[in-house]
Amino acid sequence: MKLTKAIKNMNDDPFYRELILEHWEHPQNFGVIKNADFDVTENNPLCGDKIRLTGKIENGKLTKIAFSGDGCAISRASASLFTEEIKGESLEKIKKKTDRDALSLLGIELTPARTKCALLVFNTLKKVQVFV
Ligand code: ZN
Repeated sequence: MKLTKAIKNMNDDPFYRELILEHWEHPQNFGVIKNADFDVTENNPLCGDKIRLTGKIENGKLTKIAFSGDGCAISRASASLFTEEIKGESLEKIKKKTDRDALSLLGIELTPARTKCALLVFNTLKKVQVFV
């Protein structure tokens, strides 16, 4: 998404904060992992967000995770925060994550439409059987 469009969308949304802008501009774990153990893609047609997750699993832990794709500020910030949160965690711990856990990372109230943006990363992860 072009910067101007993203900023405009954010200005339309009263619920963004600096944290989201920060992660949108400087996303953590952005990229694609080579020789990944999983490679899944999901999109949110309501907003046009698309996320691809790649990662490595070793000794029952998610040792590496990266996301790529294109989306609005909320989906991208959420992907950045959520991948930071679960990186290095055990599969058992990640399996216990709920929608609430994923949403709480953003620290803001979201409209139902924005909730779908924020949960896209979690829903993408759940396409990988070992995390369900
Ligand atoms: Zn979105």
